[in-house]
Amino acid sequence: MYKFISSSSKSKLIPLLSNSILYKSAYSSNWVSNSRNESSKFFHKPKTGNGSLVLCGQSGFRSYSSESDRETMNYDVVIVGAGPAGLSAAIKLKQVCQQKDVDLSVCVVEKGAEVGAHILSGNVFEPRALDELIPHWKEEEAPIDVPVTSDNFWLLTENRAFSLPSPFDNKGNYVISLSQLVRWLGQKAEELGVEIYPGFAASEILCNEHNEVTGIATNDMGVAKDGSRKENYQRGVALKGRVTLLAEGCRGSLSEKLIKKYNLREKGQGQHQTYALGIKEVWEIDADKHQPGYVLHTLGWPLDQKTYGGSFLYHMKDRQVAVGLVVALDYQNPFLNPYEEYQRFKHHPAIRPLLEGGTVLQYGARSLNEGGFQFSLVEQL
Ligand SMILES: Cc1cc2nc3c(=O)[nH]c(=O)nc-3n(C[C@H](O)[C@H](O)[C@H](O)COP(=O)(O)OP(=O)(O)OC[C@H]3O[C@@H](n4cnc5c(N)ncnc54)[C@H](O)[C@@H]3O)c2cc1C
Repeated sequence: MYKFISSSSKSKLIPLLSNSILYKSAYSSNWVSNSRNESSKFFHKPKTGNGSLVLCGQSGFRSYSSESDRETMNYDVVIVGAGPAGLSAAIKLKQVCQQKDVDLSVCVVEKGAEVGAHILSGNVFEPRALDELIPHWKEEEAPIDVPVTSDNFWLLTENRAFSLPSPFDNKGNYVISLSQLVRWLGQKAEELGVEIYPGFAASEILCNEHNEVTGIATNDMGVAKDGSRKENYQRGVALKGRVTLLAEGCRGSLSEKLIKKYNLREKGQGQHQTYALGIKEVWEIDADKHQPGYVLHTLGWPLDQKTYGGSFLYHMKDRQVAVGLVVALDYQNPFLNPYEEYQRFKHHPAIRPLLEGGTVLQYGARSLNEGGFQFSLVEQL
């Protein structure tokens, strides 16, 4: 079970975001508006510079400029990653803006072709954080409609399954598709004026001469394998923010670079982060075997006693079941192959009958943090 983390107040929001790191930028912009009241000054008196073009967007003000080698867009807040963390942060920022009658420009870049495309988790969802963020989520038709009805926990041996008391308390929780929820969060963010750019990977951290983060740049397009520029070469875009928030999820590439560069792991005095690999398939099974809201976790076989991990099986709606195996990546046996263990798991005599006659609709794998919020947090800047 993993928790969806968010927070109700701005001051608490940032450190609580799961897998996110906040960088206050020294990017002092007197031309990115902080409030509606400043807007006219901003509009008539853009920053000097080559090709500076000031546009009034729905969500406050952002500006475009053409720096020496690439286009630049300037925001108050740049968020990397449209997962639950990035989108909750964007929504919360805009909500606080509304309360304070301030207008901050907020953008989110997402490397998936669309919001939700890279979100894998078949999910038991605890709605507490969403209750705080969007209290009327039911009326606003959030895709959360299958309450957990039963919670089972089995110890597997090769041929048998022993029922144990469940260590989880899933009362009040829901079985959901996290990618659907994230799509819905994306819509809510856009309704509040957040600008979302799917299909763009943030590939570079931008720093100023004082080594302070000023934003990100998206990857260059049209680069050949040998690094040469193809005909369709297009330089990436710089997205600069007074604040840059990395919400890349587990082991984000930019986050890792910054953790290393600023020694955040050591400074935070946390344990080293540990990781697991989650492999998941969504199955469509026979109607007579389907029990919406049924939740099963297992431990033991096919993993040996030295390998941390276990399986999950969540009955969603429409005869769909999320079936997965999580294997901690500190396993000792160099020949262990998590994918093959997952295939073995599905053939267990207690699991196989459920899947027989069914069809795999989707599949994927993703790393996830095992280290925990309390032990492995890096230093917050
Ligand atoms: C198999 C599996 C099962 C899980 N089961 C549960 C469960 O039952 N309950 C639960 O609560 N949680 C579960 N989780 C964990 C849950 O998925 C995560 O905790 C949650 O998704 C973390 O949210 P996030 O926004 O921090 O990161 P993510 O959800 O990983 O989102 C990060 C987003 O950022 C994008 N991104 C990353 N880098 C860049 C970049 N450089 N540029 C642009 N975009 C970028 C990614 O494409 C992605 O869309 C599970 C995870 C897995 C893998």
